Amino acid sequence: MSRKKVIAGNWKMNKTPKEASAFIKELVASVKDVKDIVVCAVPYVAVDSAVKASRRTRIKIAAQNMHALENGAYTGEVSAEMLVDAGVSYVIIGHSERRQYYNETDETVNQKVLKALSVGLKPIVCVGESLEQREMGVTEDFVSYQVKYALKGVSEEDMKNVIIAYEPIWAIGTGKTATSEQANEICALIRRVVLNLYSRRTANRVIIQYGGSVNSKNVKELFSMSDIDGGLVGGASLKIDEFDKIINYNL
Ligand code: PEP
Repeated sequence: MSRKKVIAGNWKMNKTPKEASAFIKELVASVKDVKDIVVCAVPYVAVDSAVKASRRTRIKIAAQNMHALENGAYTGEVSAEMLVDAGVSYVIIGHSERRQYYNETDETVNQKVLKALSVGLKPIVCVGESLEQREMGVTEDFVSYQVKYALKGVSEEDMKNVIIAYEPIWAIGTGKTATSEQANEICALIRRVVLNLYSRRTANRVIIQYGGSVNSKNVKELFSMSDIDGGLVGGASLKIDEFDKIINYNL
């Protein structure tokens, strides 16, 4: 079955609101012939300018995190409802940097996934093993567990809106890409986990991205693999020339 690819740039803590607007205006020309879905995950303060710049274009805007509750005394936090009201359509949940530096756990990831889906946001749920886990030979068990936990309580109907991003931690921001075979193997494993939890139809439909040092040189090979449905791209999504080549990988 052919699935649409979703190519998402994760800007992390980069670009001011003005820079975000200028970048997205430039990106419009790049998406002209692109059939895949192109998403920019921008810092909270750049959401408004990014949403405005992307209006009437095919570019979608994502946030990089959200809180699981609607409102309350959580200084510095942003709710899913706020993101929807601001025009956001996707949200990254459980990025390894948030798991590592901000105490994100499988439990909070699951709560956020459920909350995002309940308000109509499409979660991009990040999973992936550390180098130590890979070397210990526990990658498959670990990633399966993360996926099962993240999807706890998610209905089959809501799975239409879920994207899973396989991001081996050792490949993020290191310039070390997983080989296309390594990446595809774990994306295929994730699809089998979804098959066991839901059905063949849902497993065939779910979008599974690869992330970890994707760039204009390795994108074509990675995206040609059977179970890789696009990518979550960090560093290479910040430069217009490089991101242009990534989203137009098949030209
Ligand atoms: C990421 O931030 O999700 C990521 C994959 O980063 P990079 O492409 O820079 O490795």
